[in-house]
This record gives sequence, structure tokens and C-alpha cells, in this order.
Amino acid sequence: ADSDVADEAVRSTCDDASICKRFATSQGYWTDPYIQYFVRQMGERKAPEINRGYYARVQGMSHLLDAFLKRTQCDCQVVNLGAGLDTTFWRLKAENTLPKKYFEVDFPMIVARKIHHIKTKPPLSKPLIETHSADSLLLDGHNLDSDRYCIIGADLRDISSLEEKLRKFQIITELPTLFLSECVLVYMTPEQSSRLVHWVANTFHTAMFINYEQKERFLLTGWESVNALDMMAVYGLLPQEDISRIERLEFLDEKELLHQLLQHYSICWAVKDTLSLGEFNIFP
Ligand code: SAM
Repeated sequence: ADSDVADEAVRSTCDDASICKRFATSQGYWTDPYIQYFVRQMGERKAPEINRGYYARVQGMSHLLDAFLKRTQCDCQVVNLGAGLDTTFWRLKAENTLPKKYFEVDFPMIVARKIHHIKTKPPLSKPLIETHSADSLLLDGHNLDSDRYCIIGADLRDISSLEEKLRKFQIITELPTLFLSECVLVYMTPEQSSRLVHWVANTFHTAMFINYEQKERFLLTGWESVNALDMMAVYGLLPQEDISRIERLEFLDEKELLHQLLQHYSICWAVKDTLSLGEFNIFP
């Protein structure tokens, strides 16, 4: 059916994102020792503007995530919606800043591929086993469940089934919970994405929602405080020494295109602050 073709096109965006991230890390923009296990091919060379755009995206998202973990002292949950082949779980494990439980959701087909990589590659499976106390992990092809890491195959447009699965894998709605969506809501209709965002606000007592995508899109009624910065502003707030370092990696004579690209995207974060998470000073 047409909708299957459309969903397949959406799923393929997961490879695009990972290949671009893999390429940027190969050029030294940031370090990710795990991404090589998910994407073998580097793809063709990407323009410096694209690499810098991914740099700002990844740094901006990590910065907000790390701020939330710090604020809650890791006594929290993280739910990465449409996580694709994201490697954040392994970064947090290596940095010893894992939340109580880290959840990921994506289409069952993507999840099955991710689980296959994890099962067959010891650098991926070892950290997971190290954080798990029982003898056996649940690994059924479409879901993975361990003490600290859970991967769920689900369609984010079907809220009741999403909720059922998250509850089955012991999500705690009373615990402060950070939701991340990085280039995901843009693939749904505005009605579908606002239903998802509303469901989070209605279900979790203390929550933060971080969304990265094109500027005009996010709908956030039901949240107590909402902030947004376009990526040009985020780029300007990143530590100057990091910016100087990455700007030396690849020569970029004409900045106009980079500025246009960055201005089309934004990071938006919303807080539901029942337990007084307080104002987040995002880019100190
Ligand atoms: N967040 C990852 C990143 O930034 O590297 C992947 C981004 S990729 C552009 C979009 C991801 O969202 C894909 O992995 C896709 O399968 C997932 N996705 C989009 N719509 C979805 C839906 N309705 N249900 C579950 N996953 C979905």
C-alpha cells in the first residue's frame, strides 16, 4: 500500500542520519566509538556545512540531555522517540551517567536491525550486560529489555499501544522523565505529533521534552514552559574553543550557506515541572 511505501521512506531516514554522523565523526568533529558498529559505510563526502550542522545538532541535544541528568542526579528516565541507530546509551554508560532506565522507541523493523547489531557485536553487548543483574535479558527480535536499557518496537502514531509497551517494560510515570525526539515528529502529521506530545504532558508528573527539527513545527500546549533556539543561536552558544577547533577541520570560505542551513532548524525544549526541576540554564 501507499502508506507502507511512505513508512519505508521514513525508516530509511534513520540510515541517512547515522551515515552523516558517522562521516562527521570520521572527520574529527566529535568522537563516537560506537557508531561504526551500526553503520559500516561512510557514504560519500559531505559538505562542511552539513558536518557543522550535525555537530551543532549532536552537541546541542547532548548538552540538554546532560543538563537534565545532572539536575535529576540520574534519578530519572530517558525516552528517545524515533531513536534509530542512536548511540547515546553507550556514551552515558561510558561516562557513568546512565539514568535509572534508558528507553528507545522506533519502528519494529529498525529495532530488529539495531538488536541484531547489539547481539552480534561485543563492544555493544558488553556494556549492556554489565548493567544487567539477572541471568538473561529479554531479546525477542522486536524488543530488548534489560535493567537499564530497553528498546521497543512501536509506531509512535499509535499512542495506546506505545503506552502499553512502555508500561510493560516498567516505565514509571512518577519519575522525572526526559523525552527526546531528534528529527522524528516532522514525519508525522501535526495532529499525530501533538497527540504524542500531549500524551507525555498528561501522563508524566515531571517531564521535559526536547525536540530537534525544522523551525516552525513543534506544538506544545499542555506544557508549563517552552523554549526554543534556532541552530544559528545554538551554534553561537557552543564553547568558543570547540567552535574554533571544528572550524579548523574543514575550510569554509563562505558562511552564508551555513547560516541559512542553521537558521532552518531549531531545538525546542518544554518542561512540566511538578517536582520543581527549576529553570534550566541550558547553555551556561
Ligand atoms: N533520532 C535519530 C537520529 O537523529 O539520529 C534518527 C532520526 S531519523 C531522521 C527518524 C527516525 O524516526 C527513524 O529511525 C524512523 O524510523 C523513526 N520514526 C519516524 N516515524 C516513526 C513512527 N511513526 N514510529 C516509530 N518510529 C518512527
